[in-house]
Amino acid sequence: MNLIALAVPFFLLALTIELLLDKARGTGFYRLNDAINSLNAGTLNVTTGYFTRFLAILLWGLVLEHLAIAEIPLANFDLSATGLAWWALAIVLWDFCYYWNHRLGHEISILWAAHAVHHQSEEYNLSTALRQTSTGFLFSWVFYVPLFVLGFPVEVLVTANAINLIYQFWVHTRFVDKLGVLDRILVTPSNHRVHHAQNAAYIDKNYGGIFILWDRLFGTFQEELDDEPVIFGVRKPLASWNPFWANVQVYSYLWFDASRTRRWRDKLGIWFRRTGWRPDDVELEWPRTPSDLDRFEKYDPPIASGARDYLLIQFLLLVPVVLGIGVLFARDGAAAVVVPCLWLWSLLFSLGFISDGKPVAHAFELIRLTLITPIAAFASGLPFALPVSAGYALLSLYVFYLCIFRNNKQEVMAEISNSHEVRHDA
Ligand SMILES: [Zn+2]
Ligand SMILES: [Zn+2]
Repeated sequence: MNLIALAVPFFLLALTIELLLDKARGTGFYRLNDAINSLNAGTLNVTTGYFTRFLAILLWGLVLEHLAIAEIPLANFDLSATGLAWWALAIVLWDFCYYWNHRLGHEISILWAAHAVHHQSEEYNLSTALRQTSTGFLFSWVFYVPLFVLGFPVEVLVTANAINLIYQFWVHTRFVDKLGVLDRILVTPSNHRVHHAQNAAYIDKNYGGIFILWDRLFGTFQEELDDEPVIFGVRKPLASWNPFWANVQVYSYLWFDASRTRRWRDKLGIWFRRTGWRPDDVELEWPRTPSDLDRFEKYDPPIASGARDYLLIQFLLLVPVVLGIGVLFARDGAAAVVVPCLWLWSLLFSLGFISDGKPVAHAFELIRLTLITPIAAFASGLPFALPVSAGYALLSLYVFYLCIFRNNKQEVMAEISNSHEVRHDA
């Protein structure tokens, strides 16, 4: 049973309620471009996961088969008092491993390159929770190997992982204040807000998944302070709404330094050094100015109101497509969703371009609608793909005409008549 997939409708419902609350109270915790980008990064995480998640399961299976020192029978994990104690043990031990996975995910450069995606949002709401990396599959699995060596069954640990992830969803909100004694035991909205901060007082703190006790035990706990409002985001801003760039940004900086430094020791070592470390020669030749939080401004490129409307409509059309691909994957496996995922990723790419206000955005979107969509429909081999994609493309082209083309034309006409008026006045 895939608990995370079952939780998705509840995630979307909670997110909608939080969004309505934000609008009703005028708190300004949501921005359309930020929320869409976070959800697009989450979509990329889920859909790339169809092709990468097997790796961890495969490797954990090999560990269980060849390295386990004991075998804890799956039958132990029932709903009796003893069974629940076994479950509790698995969940607590998983959270302990998660703490170290998460902590080193911040402290070691190559692990940070994967995890940074979760922190790039400069807002903090339930959409931030779904903003997850697509490259975490490379190394994260290593941190849980000890539990497989102890002989816990894969099914139990996969469930413990799902419980851990689902728990963390609700802590990504600014609507819940401090919770007294709970803040001392569990990861709560208040102490996870600290974790998402870029303030010097808060950086590299509160790594726990379910229990904050690990941070208190290993000296990484920091309480949210009344006189230090949290500034959300990362020190080196993403400054883009493209979910693909979000996933490669930090790797690209590391690659830049590794390819330019002269020493081989640094070319290899930089990936495994403390996050932020740079080789002396590269730092000297290509210095980076530290960010000034006093002058911090959120990334918010202006785009035309029509482009915003188009973005929102395309995003709403994306939701059933993602759910449909999920159903197809569950029924027919990864091979069946290759083409639909490629098509979906082209959509995510395009939404990134439009949100960023890139000059190439409109041309790319037209190419996507008139070429990529029909090609994908043919290549997918799915019986319903052609009529669905034809309907989608025609509808999108019409919406594109209404929101972007006609809007742009009206704005240009308004500008021309304004300049005429100015000339007449002169
Ligand atoms: Zn983190
Ligand atoms: Zn988080």
